[in-house]
Amino acid sequence: MAVRIVVAGLAFFAALTGAGATTAMAGPKYKLLRLDGRIVKWGEPRLGAPAHITYAFATGPFSDVEARNCKRIERLDDVARRNGLAVADIERQAEAAFGLWHAVAGVSFSRIANPERADIVIGAQGTPRGYAFANVRYRQDGQDAARPASDRGMNVGTAKEDVQAEMGRGPVVAIEKSAICLNPERAWKIGTHDGRDGYDLRFTFTHEIGHAIGLDHYARPGEIMHFKYSEQIAGPQPGDIAGIRRLYGAPVQAAK
Ligand SMILES: [Zn+2]
Repeated sequence: MAVRIVVAGLAFFAALTGAGATTAMAGPKYKLLRLDGRIVKWGEPRLGAPAHITYAFATGPFSDVEARNCKRIERLDDVARRNGLAVADIERQAEAAFGLWHAVAGVSFSRIANPERADIVIGAQGTPRGYAFANVRYRQDGQDAARPASDRGMNVGTAKEDVQAEMGRGPVVAIEKSAICLNPERAWKIGTHDGRDGYDLRFTFTHEIGHAIGLDHYARPGEIMHFKYSEQIAGPQPGDIAGIRRLYGAPVQAAK
């Protein structure tokens, strides 16, 4: 089984917004993440099929040599220490972010201890870069194992590319592993109410989880999957919700 990798990051650069971002457009206000032209999602590779996804926090150095970003992930201790937070506080922000996606689509999440076994691994970047990244690897059977990883997000997307809406047509493949990594050298915070510098962890996790479960940037301000950090948004917005429901359907009430 061969795998391919793509990287998506959360960019904080206002300069990336272009005139195209203001173009009026009907239809969905989201863009699905595509790797090699394929739509990627967790669980059954069929649009609208719900999925259960596990996640874990890094318990030590965690390496994925094939990843473009999040290649080496460390525990969150350094992020916590530098920002005067407890690791458990950071973990709770991630848990809350998972909960925001669970509330609006057919995705459920459970935390497990082992990052090797988890679908999504969360930690600090071993090599600090940017702000936060997500790495998504999909399951690929057959040939083409050695083709290089493709980059996406952060500094490489153009406004024109990002503003294209996604109707969600085309082949669908299953995600095999995702990672979310924070730059421990940036200022991180919990909450946006007191005007402190830094980036709100819940917003950041919500955005990066969006990538980790199959959403790309959509360059319309006001969506959590817009590529620019915003303290005006507290969770998935209508376009984000339409996108995630395209992948996983509406919320499923647990019948266990
Ligand atoms: Zn992003």
